[in-house]
Amino acid sequence: MLKNPSNLSFRGAAGDEESRKSFVSRARFLASLGMAAITKVFQYPARGLHLWIIGAAIMGCLLLALGSAARFLLRTELPSRSLRSMGGLATVTVGAGYSERVDPLTAQVRGIFERVEQELSTYRSDSAISLLAEKAGVDPVAFSEDAWRVLKLALRFDELSDGASDVTVAPLVKLWGFGRTPASASLPSEEAIREQLKFVDYRRVILKDRTAFLPVKGMAVDLGGIAKGYAVDRAFDFCRSVGVENFLIDLSGNIRVSGRPQWGKKWQIGVRNPFDRSSIIGKIAMRSGLALATSGSYERFVEVMGQRYSHIINPRTGFPVTGTAGVTVLCGDATTADGLSTSLFVVGLKGCSKLLQKAPPADVLIVPDKYPIEIWLTRGFAEVFVPIPDLSNAVRILTPTSL
Ligand code: ADP
Ligand code: MG
Repeated sequence: MLKNPSNLSFRGAAGDEESRKSFVSRARFLASLGMAAITKVFQYPARGLHLWIIGAAIMGCLLLALGSAARFLLRTELPSRSLRSMGGLATVTVGAGYSERVDPLTAQVRGIFERVEQELSTYRSDSAISLLAEKAGVDPVAFSEDAWRVLKLALRFDELSDGASDVTVAPLVKLWGFGRTPASASLPSEEAIREQLKFVDYRRVILKDRTAFLPVKGMAVDLGGIAKGYAVDRAFDFCRSVGVENFLIDLSGNIRVSGRPQWGKKWQIGVRNPFDRSSIIGKIAMRSGLALATSGSYERFVEVMGQRYSHIINPRTGFPVTGTAGVTVLCGDATTADGLSTSLFVVGLKGCSKLLQKAPPADVLIVPDKYPIEIWLTRGFAEVFVPIPDLSNAVRILTPTSL
């Protein structure tokens, strides 16, 4: 199975063949001990204290066998499938009891992701977004319902963040090597950056009757900061519409959960350490229906002369964002979480309070790009987040006055 590259989602404890074997042999041993004791009682009928001791031994063995069985059942791994989609890794995990549905459900989710990508990707030459760039300065382009909704939502985040996120950042994304053409071995020149900056301004996108128009040749739109979240929401709606209640969908760190993994448990999601891909900084217990998105400088970057440049560009300077290592947003839907995580990544710790006051309700975790690590949390995030013991002193509460 492919390993989840972004966040550590709940998997249940390992329910592998080894543990199954050890459970079976332990339960068999305890049950046979119990049976042997019962046989003895019948062979040598005893009285008084003697009988009590044997009775207690039998009960003890049976309870241990039962406990072993219960522990084994709780250790069963949840049905989960991974797939590659929208340039990343996706995982569909269903709660215990839905194992027969995981394959058809994953196939449907894959179809939903493909449809969203087909319309929104700058990587696909046949997408509405690619057509929009092709027709820049010439003609408006008609949008499908999906593409229209996402474009309008993205523009809303651009407005809320005063252009910290900007859907027209596409020419710069391409220049820095995050587009369809791979990164060059050297940094773009300041002149080239200035040249492309001329095409970046979300306020110039003209929307009318479900058509969009880019007035200047060279302008282009990139919905990469929000499209995955939107795809996750569509998949979430679909899963619920077909009666699956307990599931988790993860598309490159854009996650939404429904119900619970097992009786009495919540979906637990690990937040990656932005400085060390192989470890987490803590875990979140997720309430049903909530979404979580992470934008991290480690997610995608180009490396030139040993220096890493993040794939999120500051549309004011034309340079990749510095100062922020990771942003995780917790809120009611994955589109908002994704859109907001990109905007917050740009504004960083300094600008986040102002943006959060205007944005839809959301809780946030921000890790600035500095050493030693600091984990800044809004109060709501702090209520559900448990840092790993080593980092419990790194936690700071984010209030409007703390900045
Ligand atoms: P991912 O989950 O793909 O890492 P993010 O939500 O972190 O996505 O957004 C990063 C993507 O957003 C980039 O790959 C690029 O397509 C796009 N992008 C980069 N800079 C900006 C920006 N300032 N505003 C809006 N979108 C951006
Ligand atoms: Mg985003």
